[in-house]
Amino acid sequence: MLPCTRRRYAGGAERVQGGTSVDADTVRRWLTGAAASLHEQRDYLTQLDAAIGDADHGTNMDRGFTAVVEKLNALDGPAAPGQLLTTAGGTLVSTVGGASGPLWGTALRRAGRALGEADEFGSEELTTALDAALEGVVELGAAQEGDKTMVDALAPAVRTLRQRLEQGETIAAALSAAHEAGEEGMRATVPLQASKGRASYLGERSIGHQDPGATSTALILGALAQSVSTEG
Ligand SMILES: [Mg+2]
Repeated sequence: MLPCTRRRYAGGAERVQGGTSVDADTVRRWLTGAAASLHEQRDYLTQLDAAIGDADHGTNMDRGFTAVVEKLNALDGPAAPGQLLTTAGGTLVSTVGGASGPLWGTALRRAGRALGEADEFGSEELTTALDAALEGVVELGAAQEGDKTMVDALAPAVRTLRQRLEQGETIAAALSAAHEAGEEGMRATVPLQASKGRASYLGERSIGHQDPGATSTALILGALAQSVSTEG
């Protein structure tokens, strides 16, 4: 049995197990933190993409998440977590070219839709939302684990999150473990040969390079873990 399986709808003031509340502030901290991290690592991401892609990943992700933060800051009145994620996803789709905008845009929109109108949510909704995000990415990108894409970071993270929450860990601890699993998956892309996306045109020459999409995904997962662990 999962902990915290009660659904939380508007007005619910319960706290999630471990004193962690996942709410609109958490989502704002996540996306703002992701934007800061992607901005900071922009040149690194671009270098990784220069090796096996078209050297625009850092710029693209930085521009997209900067636009997300601006958009969220300009929203009138309180917005539910699901609405924030849906808005963020739409912003990424419209501001980021290449594959990463539509992929992360779809991921966040699916997660937002999964959360619906709830003001606060627990571990069950969190896993459902991240499952939906992963499903959207896999569907749109037609990529599986081992293809040397963002899925190599996102899939093990979502799997680890579910396992840890099922074992009764707090959301903060489970997200921290999920982030580590994502980083491990990111590092595991180095020896892989790309079979999806622009890097796949390189064939064997894609081997020996870390995938930029998996790398930015690990950064975004790190921001998610941080957004919960720093909650006051
Ligand atoms: Mg690129």
